[in-house]
Amino acid sequence: MTDFPDRVTITEVVLRDGLQLEPVIVPTAEKIRLAHRLIDAGLTSLEVGAFVNPTRVPQMADTEEVLTALLPGSAAMLHTLVFNRTGAERAVAAGARDVRFVVSASEGHSKANAGAGVEQALDRIDEAAEILAGAGVRTQATIATAFVCPFDGPTAPQQVARVATRLKAAGAAVIHLADTIGNANPSQVRETVASVRERHPDLELGLHLHDTYGMGLANAWAALSMGVAHFDASLGGIGGCPFAPGAAGNIGTDDLVHLLHREGISTGLDPETLAAVRDELAIAVGHPLSSSLSQVPAAPAPPAR
Ligand code: ZN
Repeated sequence: MTDFPDRVTITEVVLRDGLQLEPVIVPTAEKIRLAHRLIDAGLTSLEVGAFVNPTRVPQMADTEEVLTALLPGSAAMLHTLVFNRTGAERAVAAGARDVRFVVSASEGHSKANAGAGVEQALDRIDEAAEILAGAGVRTQATIATAFVCPFDGPTAPQQVARVATRLKAAGAAVIHLADTIGNANPSQVRETVASVRERHPDLELGLHLHDTYGMGLANAWAALSMGVAHFDASLGGIGGCPFAPGAAGNIGTDDLVHLLHREGISTGLDPETLAAVRDELAIAVGHPLSSSLSQVPAAPAPPAR
């Protein structure tokens, strides 16, 4: 007996997580064009940038321009990452409708990524949440290093549940558990999902998985078997965190869609359009991509669902 969902919502993170480690800065106009193409492929939720310090993450310096170009007339959820009050103010000024808070569950990664310990980072989210709620912006959240931290080792599931409590109180409608360095295994995914659910049975959970050790889809499967219906993925499997040594690419959107469709779980995405956009993305970044489907000459095209 399983609780597999009938339908999964994928948030495409290639324009944020995917591009932030690329040595080449993809021009703003090309990011906007790719976002439109991803929406053509059926994506209804995309991360399009991050309101972070542009000197630390230069690939995200054009987040305002990308977001404001995409917002008019778009029905898709266009998420941008926010860590603090400054980010929230920038998001509101740009007219954001959807924002993702990010907090690390581990001290080491929190200090490297957000420049503050977990408690202080959560306090900053509370400040940001107040600004965003006042402007009517919808919020979700990502808990980074929810399974393993590159500095502190394994993350206790109870700690993840505790951080989730704070983020839920801050108004996050969906909380995504991130395997930032791709070092989780399926039992750990199950244990952490169960721990968060035990404390928050009504909370919508998502998974954000990296594929460093080839276990990304196995971890996705573990979460799917528990009914998790929200997944982040990056087309072609590119991506990684600049402040997490050893982080490799995300699970590929193309690979995840292939798995889901083959197993009868619908996504609303068209695999053929997705494959065409993936080819365009490879040209934009100037190198071959890393998803499994990007490496087979004639990818089997499962039926759209
Ligand atoms: Zn990531």
